[in-house]
Amino acid sequence: MIGSPTVVHKLPNPICSLAALNCCKRQNKMKTGRRTSYFVFCKVYKDEKTVVIKDKYPKARYHWLILPWDPISSLKSVTRDHLELLEHMHAVGQKMIEQCPARESLEFRLGYHAIPSMSQLHLHVISQDFDSPALKTKKHWNSFTTDYFLNSEGND
Ligand SMILES: [Zn+2]
Repeated sequence: MIGSPTVVHKLPNPICSLAALNCCKRQNKMKTGRRTSYFVFCKVYKDEKTVVIKDKYPKARYHWLILPWDPISSLKSVTRDHLELLEHMHAVGQKMIEQCPARESLEFRLGYHAIPSMSQLHLHVISQDFDSPALKTKKHWNSFTTDYFLNSEGND
């Protein structure tokens, strides 16, 4: 039974965050974590394993989050069994870059936050221009440009 949607991730100064409530007409709901809480998001792509949404506070011109439908609580809970899923998330990320009109002129990185501000595992796909009004603090900058950002590596 789906209850009323709750924005789970609400921090005053988020590094990464889910898309805004009511940002699109057709709302999409996703179960998060063990407890029955839901967030509402704008999806830009989905398949049987993953969903891609726009970061609510994009830190660059192109900034997507790739989430598995089956929530993984954090990088720490990733096991061998998740390998295929993580590779799939990486492949979806590459697809997002391929369909991006600015792919020729911009560089992209795919990666995870070592200490995420959001409790569900998500892969960032972010263009390296960092041209965004939402990039406001040193913490934001560091979270995408230092070791804090762990590269996702595919098999290609
Ligand atoms: Zn993140």
